[in-house]
Amino acid sequence: MQTILELKNIGYSYHSLHGETRALTNISFGVQEGEFIAIVGPSGCGKSTLLSIIAGLLSPEQGTIVFNNPDGSLAYPRIGYMLQRDHLFEWRTVYKNVILGLEINHMMTPGRLETVERLLTDYGLEKFRDKRPSELSGGMKQRAALIRTLALDPQLLLLDEPFSALDYQTRLFVSADICRLIRAAGKTMVIITHDLSEAISLADRVIILSNRPATVKAEMPIHLTLKDDSPLASRNAPEFQQYFNQLWEDLNNDG
Ligand code: ADP
Repeated sequence: MQTILELKNIGYSYHSLHGETRALTNISFGVQEGEFIAIVGPSGCGKSTLLSIIAGLLSPEQGTIVFNNPDGSLAYPRIGYMLQRDHLFEWRTVYKNVILGLEINHMMTPGRLETVERLLTDYGLEKFRDKRPSELSGGMKQRAALIRTLALDPQLLLLDEPFSALDYQTRLFVSADICRLIRAAGKTMVIITHDLSEAISLADRVIILSNRPATVKAEMPIHLTLKDDSPLASRNAPEFQQYFNQLWEDLNNDG
């Protein structure tokens, strides 16, 4: 499988009148096409900063990011970003929300609008297209947010704690549902989560960051026996507890 994204010795500091906050140091890892990567690390260690750098919103101070586009071009890939809240606008209908990205980017082509129609139907939102976001359940709102993101046909999806606003029970189902849909769409995904169980059940590989300034402490490829069933079922896989214990140890050792 092709490595589509490679981070090499990335470093970043925030500068203010009060001094420098070193957020990232010497971060290196690659992402394969179609791979799901989960990034875990202590609160405030630099996870969101790292995601912003991958998204191209911040430029690394040290190191480089290499994107290997399948077509061989050097262009920055199309990035889809899902944040902690769904950020649907209440003053727009569901349909008007899901086409927002296309509208802003002047990409309302027949082909892309067709994709939106297909996703609305596939994701069970067709009947709700004229409703307001407040009339949807938490899971449906996340599905709508996903359609808005996928409408732009991103090559790489970046998710920053996208399920943290949901209660635990809903979160279990919605995270499994959304990740199943992203896999079905054949996308590559990097997700930040503070929930170790979520990381193990969703990801092909977990990257564990140290305390700030964050560096890669360990990488853990995940192979769960029940993986093909669903992220929810995978929590019952015999290896799950072992991965959890190892992750916990990696996160908490000072080495
Ligand atoms: P995480 O996502 O792991 O919680 P962040 O990447 O948000 O961590 O932040 C890493 C560190 O950088 C924190 O100490 C935070 O206070 C600091 N930081 C984040 N954004 C800024 C900013 N815009 N200016 C100054 N410091 C910042």
